[in-house]
Amino acid sequence: MMSFRAFQVEKTADRQFPRSIVERDTADLPDGELLIDVAYSSLNYKDALSATGNPGVTRNFPHTPGIDAAGTVEESRSDAFAVGDAVIVIGFDLGMNTAGGFGEKVRVPAAWAVPMPAGLDARTSMILGTAGFTAALCVHKLEAFGMTPDGGPVLVTGATGGVGSVAVKLLAKLGYEVHAVTGKPEQHSFLRGLGAEQLLSREDALQGAERPLGRPTWGGAVDTVGGQILVNAVKSLRYGASLAACGLVASPEIPASVLPFILRHVNLLGIDSVELPLAQKAEIWNKLAGAWHLDGLEELAAPLTLATLSSAIDRILAGKMVGRGLVDLKA
Ligand code: NDP
Repeated sequence: MMSFRAFQVEKTADRQFPRSIVERDTADLPDGELLIDVAYSSLNYKDALSATGNPGVTRNFPHTPGIDAAGTVEESRSDAFAVGDAVIVIGFDLGMNTAGGFGEKVRVPAAWAVPMPAGLDARTSMILGTAGFTAALCVHKLEAFGMTPDGGPVLVTGATGGVGSVAVKLLAKLGYEVHAVTGKPEQHSFLRGLGAEQLLSREDALQGAERPLGRPTWGGAVDTVGGQILVNAVKSLRYGASLAACGLVASPEIPASVLPFILRHVNLLGIDSVELPLAQKAEIWNKLAGAWHLDGLEELAAPLTLATLSSAIDRILAGKMVGRGLVDLKA
């Protein structure tokens, strides 16, 4: 038994969700083969949904959110991992109804853990976190469906956010012409620094909503926002191109017509980082550690501690985060 610090969300009788930092004991953690000493976690939009009681994410309180964790194996009942191994855990039930990475210790099944690939460490892997991983998964799937740099510019929506900012940086590194949609004109130079060549406002991205088809423009698209912006992007895909849909910050609805699909042969690709089988998770992490290694990740990091998490949760819910909230559990 060992005590550790954790960010905790409670649920009151009148459905309030107060947040605090508490001392917990490893004896209270759920069963699992691996006890992990967490060095870094990261803040994702879903953590903010968990922390505000969204029942689609978390039903059981008190709860420690944090869908991401990177650290060192402290106890192992698995042949696949030894004490001292560096690991990454993202997705599955971590931070949903299993105590997550906003605590100094997590206990998880070995089947959730990916060995830290050479080329990444706890800090860089968590600057990426689920959001950066998801950006890479989008690009991976778009390329599997034929996207290439000479197929036309690629649109990224919600570009200053976690998924969006990594998507811009990765696509630019791979030689794509990136056009970024943002609601933050004051962040244009940040996005240009990541490699965006053209910047669009959300209003630009909503133009022509009444038309059944747009001008064929995009060789691919990474959409983090959903709703009418997603639909407009689909309508402006070039013949045979694809859009990867991974988010819903604007809306979970898709008010679309079939016309782009049956006249332009376009594809709407679903992206899920949570239940993605472990072997495919490891493949994407290995790419991010190797051929897709991103230099200058520190520029994306918004450093956080357990003490500053609560205000950052409010910022991400308000769509005001820029880059990736990196949570240092040792700070
Ligand atoms: P962030 O909050 O970091 O980024 C979202 C960005 O979207 C904001 O920064 C903002 O960027 C833009 N935005 C916010 N509100 C609106 C709005 N009303 N209309 C249009 N744009 C808006 O979140 P993440 O990047 O962590 O996550 C993005 C989405 O992806 C979330 O819905 C999340 O749940 C989902 N997600 C899904 C995963 C999966 O496995 N499918 C995994 C990870 C995330 P700007 O100001 O630049 O426009």
